This record gives sequence, structure tokens and C-alpha cells, in this order.
Amino acid sequence: MILSGKDIAINIRQAMREEISSLVQTYGRAPSLAVIQVGDNPASTIYVRNKIKAAEFCGIRSVQIALPVTTTEKELQKRIAALNADELIDGILVQLPLPEHCNEERIIRAILPEKDVDGFHPVNAAALWLHRPLVMRHEATIYSPVQDYGCTIACTPKGILSLLAATGVNLDGKRAVVVGRSDIVGKPLAKLLLDRQCTVTIAHSHTIDLPAVCKDADILIAAVGKPKLITAECVKEGAIVIDVGISRMPDGTLSGDVDFEACKQKAAFITPVPGGVGPMTVTMLMQNTVECFIRRMQKEQ
Ligand code: NAD
Repeated sequence: MILSGKDIAINIRQAMREEISSLVQTYGRAPSLAVIQVGDNPASTIYVRNKIKAAEFCGIRSVQIALPVTTTEKELQKRIAALNADELIDGILVQLPLPEHCNEERIIRAILPEKDVDGFHPVNAAALWLHRPLVMRHEATIYSPVQDYGCTIACTPKGILSLLAATGVNLDGKRAVVVGRSDIVGKPLAKLLLDRQCTVTIAHSHTIDLPAVCKDADILIAAVGKPKLITAECVKEGAIVIDVGISRMPDGTLSGDVDFEACKQKAAFITPVPGGVGPMTVTMLMQNTVECFIRRMQKEQ
């Protein structure tokens, strides 16, 4: 079965729109998100546009800040400091990649952790690894799959948990293989799956016999950026296959890491590219903005 992130994302955004209109009643204003783009990388421009459109749909106030490619790191730090201090800004996102003369790590650290809607700040990344959910107040839902951590979780792994929740499959005890060990996808995702009681393997560029490792997986997630790396040989019959990879092909089309046509014959659930993980990532950015807003409002009271 094809697991359409696009359809699930639309449902979540509609529910979020209703939630936000009731938050406006409660707190007197809508959550707000500042999006900074430095330079005019065409892919970044598309991503930023999608984020602003999603925010508008949900009823989140967005502030778009487009800076020239010549912006220095110091100037960017200053902009971030002003947004950190702005009481009416709940979330700050700096679209990556930045031009080479700006150090991404320092820029991410400049954002207040409580406004870091991407969940990339070391405080948020560390909180995910150190905290188990203290109290499971409720079962995780598709809408809010990881609400119990009290910190911001990176959008893509969070969106993948929503996709997994949408399958209705109980994750407890399942074998999960995450291919890719980046700080923004592979590693946080592995921790989230561990907390969902999966037995987790992280495969990477030095993994020997990748197909054999993948073949064991009840849940196979590819986050590499190599078109069609995951062939049918890697997929166990009845597995859930989630494709995070996005690569632009010479003919202009997008390709995932999974050979979709071949693997869909074997998988119980499989995400397409485009229309799989991508729309969920943007939706979880909206969710993170709302969560940052609520935490800030509750702190003020
Ligand atoms: P990255 O480049 O930081 O990391 C890639 C990982 O793949 C590394 O950990 C590396 O060890 C591993 N790898 C490389 N070659 C491999 C091989 N032959 N076998 C096994 N593992 C191998 O990647 P990232 O930032 O996590 O992004 C991965 C892909 O996901 C990219 O295509 C990116 O565009 C896409 N992405 C999509 C979304 C979305 O919302 N859909 C979000 C983030 C990233």
C-alpha cells in the first residue's frame, strides 16, 4: 500500500488550523514563525515558499526575511538576536545550507533553544537523547507523535513517526533499520524508534553488505541521498519502507533512495518521492511552531 505523506499531511494541517484558531481565542494571538533565507539557492527558495504557504494555511503568522548572499555571519547573528528578543516571535528557522562564509553550527547555536523550531540546537538534540518521555500522558497520535519530550524534535524524524502511526502497525519489538546517520534524520530517528520499543540498527556508508542488513527490517528507512540505493533485494516481504532521500535527476525529476517500482511489490507500506516524507516534514515544522508557542505562553502565565 502506498503511504501518502501528502494526504496525511493535509489532514494534520486541517486539524492544526482548528487548533490554532482556538489557541488564538485562548492567548489572544496566533503562533508566529520567522524564516530567514540567505542568498537565493533555488532549492531553498522552493522549501521556504512551501513553509510559508503551510504556515498561512494553518493560521500561523509568518515573517519572511530574505537576506543577500553577501550577508556576513555577524550580521546574521544580529538578526537572530533581534528575533530571539522579540516577544512576538515563537519560532525561528534559518534555511540551510548557508553560504560558505557563514558557519552553520554557530548560527544554529545562536537561536534560542526554545525558539529553535527545527530542533537542531544542541540543547534540543541532547534533550532527545537524554530524556525518555517522563510520563506517557497519552498514546502517541498521528497528529502529535512525540509530544512527551518537552523539547523540540527535528521535523523529518517526527514526521516519519506520524507516517508510521498512520499505518496502524504496532511498533513494539519490531526490527527497524535506519540507513543514514545524519544529525538531522538518521540519529534522532533511531532514538525515537528505540523509545517506541523497536530494535534499531543504524546502517551507513561503511556498512558491509547493506542488502543483508536491510533485509532483516520490519521497518526500513532510507535517508542517504543516493537514488535507488535500496533495491528489492533489500526489502523483506511485508516490511514498511520509508524513503527520506531526495535527489534531483539530470532530467529534472526527483528520485528517492528506494527503487519504488521494484520495492512496492514486496512492501506492506511504502512512501513515494515526492509526496511522502517531504510534506510531513513541513507539517511537523508547523506542529513544532505551535508547541514552541504553547510552551512560551504557558511559561508567561
Ligand atoms: P547526509 O548527507 O547528512 O547523510 C547521508 C548519510 O548516508 C550518511 O550518514 C552516510 O553515512 C550515509 N550513506 C552514504 N552513502 C551510503 C551508502 N552507500 N550506504 C549506506 N549509507 C550511506 O544526509 P541527510 O541530511 O540525512 O539527508 C539524506 C537524504 O534525505 C538527502 O537526499 C536529503 O535531501 C533527504 N532529506 C529529505 C528530507 C525530507 O523532508 N524529505 C529531509 C531531510 C533530508
